[in-house]
Amino acid sequence: MTQTLYTESEVKSVVAGLAAAIAADSSERKILLLGLLKGCQPFLADLCRELSRYQLSLAVEYLQVSSYVGTASSGQVKISQTLPESLMRGCDVIVVDDIFDTGLTLKSVVTHLREKGAERVKTCVLLRKEGSSRVVMEPDYCGAVIPDAFIVGYGLDYNEQYRELPYIKVLGEEDRK
Ligand code: 5GP
Ligand code: MG
Repeated sequence: MTQTLYTESEVKSVVAGLAAAIAADSSERKILLLGLLKGCQPFLADLCRELSRYQLSLAVEYLQVSSYVGTASSGQVKISQTLPESLMRGCDVIVVDDIFDTGLTLKSVVTHLREKGAERVKTCVLLRKEGSSRVVMEPDYCGAVIPDAFIVGYGLDYNEQYRELPYIKVLGEEDRK
């Protein structure tokens, strides 16, 4: 049986809460939202729309990052391109990802950005898995904590399927085709 974890409207209110938290912390500096492809896509789009309610100076960029094979982390994080330092200069960079599991992805990206000259880097995830972190790091903004299960929908895929779902569910046996 498929288990819906977050309905479309529940996702919307989690994203609205994250936008409010980001806006409450914002300084005079420009915010650069840096989305990790591909999973960040619907989340980042909705987060931008929610942030538009606040008077912020906002830019958006993306990095292509991958670590998962099927339903498990390979432990190797591949960052496929880099971001010019000129784009990050003077900005508060907020790395946006769908989910924090082992933490290796965000940790690698933050380390990479610091090496490339980013001054202020924060992290924002829609979800984090309970008790699964393998790194000494906490996301600065986290929408909700979920049990340790493999989930799909709202950008999250299983072998490139299910990203289009507007809700989030646990991947069922019947979905592994
Ligand atoms: P981490 O590096 O923190 O272990 O994993 C983060 C990345 O792994 C996420 O950006 C996401 O792409 C992928 N990931 C982790 N857990 C899940 C999950 O439950 N479902 C899906 N579809 N991807 C996941
Ligand atoms: Mg990812």
